[in-house]
Amino acid sequence: MALVVQKYGGTSVGSVEKIKNVARRVARSYDEGNQVVVVVSAMAGETDKLVGLANEVCDIPDDREYDVLVASGEQVSIALLSMALKSMGYQAKSYLGWQIPIYTDDAHAKARIKEIRDENIRADLEKGTICIVAGFQGIDADGNIATLGRGGSDTSAVAVAAAMKADVCEIYTDVDGVYTTDPRIVSAASKIEKISYDEMLELASLGAKVLQIRSVEFAKKYGVVIHVRSSFNDNLGTLVKEEDADMETVLVSGISYNKNEAKISVIRVPDKPGIAAALFGPLSEANITVDMIIQNVSHDGFTDLTFTVPRTDFKKALPIVEESAAKIGAEKVQSDESIAKVSIVGVGMRSHSGIASKMFETLSVEGVNIEMISTSEIKVSCVIDDKYTELAVRVLHKAFGLDDESVKDEE
Ligand code: ASP
Ligand code: MG
Repeated sequence: MALVVQKYGGTSVGSVEKIKNVARRVARSYDEGNQVVVVVSAMAGETDKLVGLANEVCDIPDDREYDVLVASGEQVSIALLSMALKSMGYQAKSYLGWQIPIYTDDAHAKARIKEIRDENIRADLEKGTICIVAGFQGIDADGNIATLGRGGSDTSAVAVAAAMKADVCEIYTDVDGVYTTDPRIVSAASKIEKISYDEMLELASLGAKVLQIRSVEFAKKYGVVIHVRSSFNDNLGTLVKEEDADMETVLVSGISYNKNEAKISVIRVPDKPGIAAALFGPLSEANITVDMIIQNVSHDGFTDLTFTVPRTDFKKALPIVEESAAKIGAEKVQSDESIAKVSIVGVGMRSHSGIASKMFETLSVEGVNIEMISTSEIKVSCVIDDKYTELAVRVLHKAFGLDDESVKDEE
């Protein structure tokens, strides 16, 4: 008998009809002879609504009460799913985080799971009960409700699968799996059959929103194989797992883009020890994360420094940088909000050369200017003018052989 953990996201339980559909899928897995633990998100849009209410009541909601509020969406969906299963004649039982319990630290709204005690659930599974667990929530050491950050039900599911040593962890969503790029931009984007944890982390942090990043980190740490698939059909989805030999033969697994950054350049900075600290210290104190940084070769003792910050923090960052720049005697500060970062990701880069240069060549043929470059072992990112984002993604997708040949070009 296998132990199966299935997680259904908000769109999969977005209406009563959809909840009934999920109940049928869960029942099918149970009928196949599995023990089934189901982790559920709030119905689509509900968590946003709750966050909205909090913001209407006050500017900065109390963090304990915020978690009491936003965790309530999942209470609704687990109860409805359990009722649906019961009315179909199955034994089912809903669990809030504290009823399992799932212990977390006390960092409200971004809590981390510390321990999951599975005795209660195990006992119920042994009795033939289907266990329905509220995603996104746990309790801290003092018994306060704590939530895991937006999209946190993915992490709940992976953590439950890890703690219970489940045989399968399926994450059901409204797409068929992880795609080589955004199908809204490239209609010939194809579904990736399997992808390594590291590639998924790069793609997720670069903007592919299928899984919460933390759930992938968790899966990597505990070796949980995640199967991302659609709750609306029976297609095989994408396996997110440990790297294997044939993953290396694919040079580039996916292409992502991110339009949420802005670029700041500090021009003619006196090149001496301490300037980077003087510029970036105040930004980190203001909790602004800096992503790419480039320092030019210096001429006559002066250099230029260019870096990117999240676009949402740009207005906050600029005056801070201007003040530091003045202090260290820089000539001026320039900025550009209309940039995009396009990245190619693949573990094959570790063993093959020429991939970065092919990216640069492909962009240059299209007349796309590269403003900044950064690389890691399995990723190359270029900052470009954001009006070329779609073009860049499309030509790179084709150049690296990712276009699904069976899809007719619509242009
Ligand atoms: N309901 C929560 C959210 O909307 C958690 C989740 O859906 O994973 O962020
Ligand atoms: Mg989600």
